[in-house]
Amino acid sequence: MSGTAQIGVTGLAVMGRNLARNFAHNGFTVAVHNRTTAKTDALVEDFGDEGAFVAAHTPQEFVAALERPRRLVIMVKAGEPTDAVIQQFVPLLDDGDVVIDGGNAHFEDTRRREKELRERGIHFVGAGISGGEEGALNGPSIMPGGSAESYASLGPMLERIAAKAKDGTPCTTHIGPDGAGHFVKMVHNGIEYADMQLIAEAYDLLRAVAGYSPAKIAETFRSWNTGRLDSYLIEITAEVLAHTDAATGRPFVDIVQDRAEQKGTGRWTVQIALDLGVPVSGIAEAVFARSLSGHADLREAAKGLSGPSAAPLGAQEAAAFADRVEQALYASKIVSYTQGFHQIRAGSEAYDWNVDLGAVASIWRAGCIIRAAFLDRIRSAYATRPELLSLLSDAQFAEEIGAAQDDWRAVVAEAVRQGVPTPGFAAALSYYDGLRADRLPAALTQGQRDFFGAHTYRRVDREGSFHTLWGGDR
Ligand code: NAP
Repeated sequence: MSGTAQIGVTGLAVMGRNLARNFAHNGFTVAVHNRTTAKTDALVEDFGDEGAFVAAHTPQEFVAALERPRRLVIMVKAGEPTDAVIQQFVPLLDDGDVVIDGGNAHFEDTRRREKELRERGIHFVGAGISGGEEGALNGPSIMPGGSAESYASLGPMLERIAAKAKDGTPCTTHIGPDGAGHFVKMVHNGIEYADMQLIAEAYDLLRAVAGYSPAKIAETFRSWNTGRLDSYLIEITAEVLAHTDAATGRPFVDIVQDRAEQKGTGRWTVQIALDLGVPVSGIAEAVFARSLSGHADLREAAKGLSGPSAAPLGAQEAAAFADRVEQALYASKIVSYTQGFHQIRAGSEAYDWNVDLGAVASIWRAGCIIRAAFLDRIRSAYATRPELLSLLSDAQFAEEIGAAQDDWRAVVAEAVRQGVPTPGFAAALSYYDGLRADRLPAALTQGQRDFFGAHTYRRVDREGSFHTLWGGDR
């Protein structure tokens, strides 16, 4: 017998509970289940009046509550718990049912799970979901991968619960087969790391070099948020900086330990980029900056090292410097997104996913953590030229970054002169200059490799591979 629920959610911690409520708010009957049954009952008790929920206390009850073909979303801890839950449900499912993993799975795990379930006639959709608990409730950005058939059954429901961009487009689309959705979510998180690092560097420079207070920097970010940097992360940064710690009356940012933590998706992005040979230096610097901040012992041991201390500028110079920091932040942001989209293109080619890069930019315009006005520009760049090799080849981005570069260079130079670490700004600028260079010192690297390892080199004037007999006859 078929049940009445159009969708089921198992795993009712913050994300699952809010996602279930979002489905219910949109008129769907939702079966809800959690390993610890008290959470299932609490959801229905607390939010039962918001829509139609069917509480299930066992996997059997959960599966029986779903209409066919069944659609069930797993929102449990990524890794082994996800495998355990899949193994628990699969024997209870039938051909054509759709299992959706909405957790932060590694895309290689998703590829494995999709293959295993496909062999049993079950669709497996690895769906990256971004937007945190607030997004899950009110409209996240959803990146589903899997078969086209599964999207036909699931897509219209996801489109209902997803965030909507300003033009009304739902922030979800079929990303591609098997692990494509979780891959794109992983790169989203990598870009998020880079965005956060660049914003942190801008804050550090405004504080140390411009001599601004956290409240003044909050004001500066608020004004930037009305321009081309308009984004969720700039908006919340202003809120964090404006916040005063109730216990001490000090700026909140000054009472927090300066050791950044990480859960792993940024690290995965860099690991996979290394495998694919994609230079994501901005994302890598962001991950390493968090690592460096966490090495309290190393930092303590380095306390005596010499170097300049930042000396704040006068008021007028400070205002001009702040404008230059805005340029540096914007230019570095263009580079981060250029690198992230390059990685998605490389992944898509390596795994034969045929990911539409413009569609990815489109579904990141609302709902997710990196949502920004800027993403509409990226969408439009790929809509005009879907074959675009690099965002820096887009005429408008090239012009903007060209116009920003004098200030960008001045900011990095000032940071170096005053001893303020800016790994994100500097790496982005080096990437830009690396791409622009007529000749790179890679020619010398090739010579060294041939010298010690007979690795051969290619010549500028002749076809073929060459090796020089170093130290002997040349
Ligand atoms: P979570 O803390 O990652 O996981 C808790 C949930 O997992 C609980 O429902 C728990 O059940 C269940 N669980 C753990 N081990 C289990 C097992 N072996 N068998 C069955 N159930 C098990 O929850 P969350 O923060 O809501 O995140 C859910 C997923 O969404 C994760 O994969 C996370 O990475 C992803 N995600 C989270 C966010 C966020 O902002 N939090 C954003 C995007 C994506 P019990 O109640 O019985 O312990």
